[in-house]
Amino acid sequence: MADSFRCILVTKSEGGATGAVSTFAESDLMDGEVVVDVSHSTLNYKDGLAITGASPVVRKFPLIAGIDFAGRVRASSDARFKPGDAVVCNGWGMGETHHGGFAPVARVKADWLVPLPAPITPETAMAIGTAGYTSMLAVMALEAHGLTPARGPVLVTGAAGGVGSVAVALLARLGYKVIASTGRREEEAYLRSLGASEVLDRAELSGDARPLAKERWAGAVDSVGSKTLANVLASTSYGGTVAACGLAQGMDLPGSVAPFILRGVTLAGIDSVMCPRPRRLEAWSRLARDLDLQTLASTVSHAGLADLPALAGRILKGQVRGRVVIDVAK
Ligand code: NDP
Repeated sequence: MADSFRCILVTKSEGGATGAVSTFAESDLMDGEVVVDVSHSTLNYKDGLAITGASPVVRKFPLIAGIDFAGRVRASSDARFKPGDAVVCNGWGMGETHHGGFAPVARVKADWLVPLPAPITPETAMAIGTAGYTSMLAVMALEAHGLTPARGPVLVTGAAGGVGSVAVALLARLGYKVIASTGRREEEAYLRSLGASEVLDRAELSGDARPLAKERWAGAVDSVGSKTLANVLASTSYGGTVAACGLAQGMDLPGSVAPFILRGVTLAGIDSVMCPRPRRLEAWSRLARDLDLQTLASTVSHAGLADLPALAGRILKGQVRGRVVIDVAK
């Protein structure tokens, strides 16, 4: 078909949902005011869940996977966007209920798009990706609750992953002493190159949590959840804040209220998917200002659409380091 393109399509069969390289007709894309020529997408943990079918991320079938993309506007019926504009799109149900970013073209609502602030190009935007934008939202939440470098160190869990790597780089650039928690001791040099001053073995945080433990950090960005988050809270110092954004260890939170009621600790929830547009615009402009793009480049590896089914399994096993940019033409 003349208007068909290559993409990662998630289909459902008796065996469950799985994503594979397939073709799709442009005329079958869902409604939206803006058509974007997508140049890059990226691999997120949620994409791993969607492509392998490990969790019911995709809720309409068949659906193009990919929770984010960046590219240039081809056509727009909304006055805020004109052909050639560089844009990024994260969340809003893309790759879940709306066709997503693992394709060379997307049609979406104008309200979902963020114009890219210089010097962020579409490729850089996907080096940051939903993971990096979520890290920025987490840092903004810590700041909104009064965290400053003078208050003490900040812990990042799942540090060698996508959210974690960008959080380490961002916090270090902002002047924080960063403690990076990882299960991959072999990534210690990598984490120090991003700006971590201390590297902690995640085993210290992954067992059963006591209600309170020694105060060790003034704040934390947690992409792991479960027992790890309970331990992180128990060791947060008086008046500190923990930004919870992930569930790599699990969705439960087997902890105690002691950190909240005895140390005034704040647990700040981070959601990137339905995050209101003004906060997204702020997050992307902060990323343009506060993230060192050379440091970011050291977290990135590159892959094509055809690599995604294998990468999906690897990210769920915690085997992907940093960020993976997907060239959707490959
Ligand atoms: P990655 O897989 O890149 O990173 C997750 C990291 O968590 C791994 O690299 C590993 O880090 C650590 N980890 C994995 N399994 C375990 C485990 N069993 N116990 C302890 N640590 C573990 O994923 P992303 O960075 O893309 O996403 C991280 C999390 O954040 C995911 O749960 C994702 O769903 C969530 N997320 C949430 C968003 C939101 O809007 N709230 C947006 C984006 C992501 P290491 O090897 O260093 O130990």
